[in-house]
Order: sequence, then C-alpha cells, then structure tokens
Amino acid sequence: MRCLYCHTHIFEEIGWSDLIFKRVEDPFCAGCRSTLIKIEGARCKICSRSMKSEGVCSDCDMWSKHSDYSDVLTANHSIYEYNDSLKELIKRFKYNGDYALAGCFRKELIEHVKLYKKFIIVPMPVSSLRLKERGFNQTEALLECAGVSYENLLKRVDTETSQAKKQKAARHSGENPFQSGKAMNGENILLIDDLYTTGTTIRRAASVLKKTGAGEVRSVTIGR
Ligand SMILES: [Zn+2]
Ligand SMILES: [Zn+2]
Repeated sequence: MRCLYCHTHIFEEIGWSDLIFKRVEDPFCAGCRSTLIKIEGARCKICSRSMKSEGVCSDCDMWSKHSDYSDVLTANHSIYEYNDSLKELIKRFKYNGDYALAGCFRKELIEHVKLYKKFIIVPMPVSSLRLKERGFNQTEALLECAGVSYENLLKRVDTETSQAKKQKAARHSGENPFQSGKAMNGENILLIDDLYTTGTTIRRAASVLKKTGAGEVRSVTIGR
C-alpha cells in the first residue's frame, strides 16, 4: 500500500493487529497526515475561525447585521486549517479529479456528521457546467466515501465564473445561484462543503433553504 499523497510505501508502518482488525483506513502516511492541522482551541462560535479567545469574529458580527443573511446560518464547523498541504490536497482532489483522495477525510467527516442527529445532510451543489468539467461533485464524493447518506435539496444554477472573478465580486452583491426544489417543514439541515472561505456561498445556500421552510441550517466543511 502506498500513501495517496506522496506515494511512499506505508505497509511498514502498519502492524499485524491493524491488518487483522482492518484498521487500515487512512490512505496517508504518518508524515503526510501530520501536515494536516486540525482547528483546535478557541474559535469563532459561528464560523470556526481560529481566535485568541472564544467569541464571534468581526466577519460574523458583520453578517449578523446583514439584512438578508443575518440569521440564516446557525453555525459552521470546519475540521482543518486551510494551510498549504490542505490547499494542495484539495486542488488535486477537486481540480485534477483525484477522486480517491476523498478517503483522507473519511474518518473525520464520519465523526463530525454523527454529531448532528436529526439533520438532513445536504452537499453543496455544483453547476452542471462545473460537473461536466470535473466529472464529479467533490462534496458528494466526500460523503459517498464516508458512507454518509445525503439528499440533494439544492441546485446551483449559475455558470460559476472563475475563482478570481468570484473573489473580486463584492461579498454581499450578486444573485443567489442556489435553488431549492422542495418545500420543507422545519427540518434541520447540515450543509457539507470542502471549504469555508468568506462564508457567502454557504449563507446563500442556507438562505434558500430557510425560505423554503427549513428549520436550523448548520454546516460542516473540511477546511477553513
Ligand atoms: Zn505520504
Ligand atoms: Zn466567525
């Protein structure tokens, strides 16, 4: 067995008991695994940003005063810091289509999703154009790899302009690219995405779900 990231042999690191009890779940070698840093310690109660002390960060404070998005997202929980390793990993996974890399997040994703009982798991959708380009929805791939069942309650209708353009676009402007085809009756939703960046995308999705009758909307992302 080789590490999915650096391709060194990792068989040597695994003991016989691990093999017998099928604990070989991590497709990463210890070295590569250690470059992924979990967000621990004080963080923003709403978006998971690392902070010096527990509280609400300035961005979330600003969101709380926004006319359309003030209360759409109860909280986001992100698992890893978006450092160079995670950046490279997500790039390979998402843009180079290295589907197998979804396995790296399997264990953590299962552990986190388990905490949200009575929530419908909803992957963030990609537009049909993006789907055609990549061949898969990265968030669905993460969930499938983790064996988590989900419902596609959202549709993304825009053509998704380039990342650079998106970053340029003002945080609060632009049309909401999401649509929900299903009326809800107070069900709680857990949105899953690979990254939380400005929080705009997740809030837009949450706002659509709220408008169609969702109860609480929370999110879990791999990186922040
Ligand atoms: Zn490795
Ligand atoms: Zn925050």
